[in-house]
Amino acid sequence: MNQMIERVKTSSQKEKPSVDALGFGKYFSDYMFTMDYETEKGWHSPKITPYEPLVLDPSAMVFHYGQAVFEGLKAYRTDDGKALLFRPLKNIKRLNLSCERMSIPTLDEDLVMDAIHQLVELEKDWIPNGEGTSLYIRPFIIATEPYLGVRPSHSYKFMVILSPVGAYYSGQLNPVKIYVEDYYVRAVPGGVGHVKTSGNYAASLKAQNNAEELGFEQVLWLDAKEKKYIEEVGSMNIFFKINGEVITPKLNGSILSGITRDSVIELLKHWDVPVREERISLEDIFKAHANGDLEEVFGSGTAAVISPVGELKWGNESITVNDNKIGQLSFQIYDTITKIQLGRADDPFNWTFEV
Ligand SMILES: *Cc1c(COP(=O)(O)O)cnc(C)c1O
Repeated sequence: MNQMIERVKTSSQKEKPSVDALGFGKYFSDYMFTMDYETEKGWHSPKITPYEPLVLDPSAMVFHYGQAVFEGLKAYRTDDGKALLFRPLKNIKRLNLSCERMSIPTLDEDLVMDAIHQLVELEKDWIPNGEGTSLYIRPFIIATEPYLGVRPSHSYKFMVILSPVGAYYSGQLNPVKIYVEDYYVRAVPGGVGHVKTSGNYAASLKAQNNAEELGFEQVLWLDAKEKKYIEEVGSMNIFFKINGEVITPKLNGSILSGITRDSVIELLKHWDVPVREERISLEDIFKAHANGDLEEVFGSGTAAVISPVGELKWGNESITVNDNKIGQLSFQIYDTITKIQLGRADDPFNWTFEV
């Protein structure tokens, strides 16, 4: 179903990095997808071209007022050499939700799906082979109009770039140490925390750096109003297993609606494990720990899938979760989702999409 996506062939292909050198987001494949928008023409000129630098006017609005949105998903190589995407339509729908909030014109979902499909198919050889590796797909949109007035741009560029990435875990799933941030906030009610817009990440760096300097890997964000309720951790959603039940903060307009989060909830329901979405105070978590009821804590996101939490520090108090070891349910969720992503387990939910 080639929807008139123009192709420009590259004259030279890059050498592919070795699996050990990959890391995250350092290497980019040979091709990218681009499409432009102008008010009069709408979205037009979808193209797959060689990956190359952009030429932008210094007054391009994205540099000044931050109209930029993005997505992140992965293509996985199966044992028999197929390429699978994980719930890609969810990312496309979320991209449009981000566009809407940031006054960026939305995209045709079928065309974006086709663009990602064609690009990944063309670049299939860039999906690395090592255990735990994948091809990270980064769709994004920037405001390109050369203008310094404050209003939505009249022109945009949508792009998709691909980056082969290494395994998030080199062996065991290591639990992370989390610092509860009680001064800075990530998102406010009525703000943009529920969408993937660039400024959210710029605003989070300072707290993240502070936490790292204190010897913690991630920040746990609290609600902006009362600094009592749990939002998310770093750029992952968070789950708590208390006395056999799993709870996660309810989507409240300032929490990002993670696709991994949604998958975890669906999986737990499928397994008949009680799971609830609700407002959770940090105090209740510390109380549950004091009562011996806090069994597991884990983050969820595309990068790590599941990231067990081993320690939480809040002011002068610090708690250790499950002896700083990965919990049984956390591991079971991780194992099941990664096996579905790799085509190694049944996919009763139809989550995978073969390229
Ligand atoms: C992307 C993101 C997540 C995780 O979303 P997934 O779709 O599961 O990858 C969680 N929180 C924030 C702030 C994010 O940007």
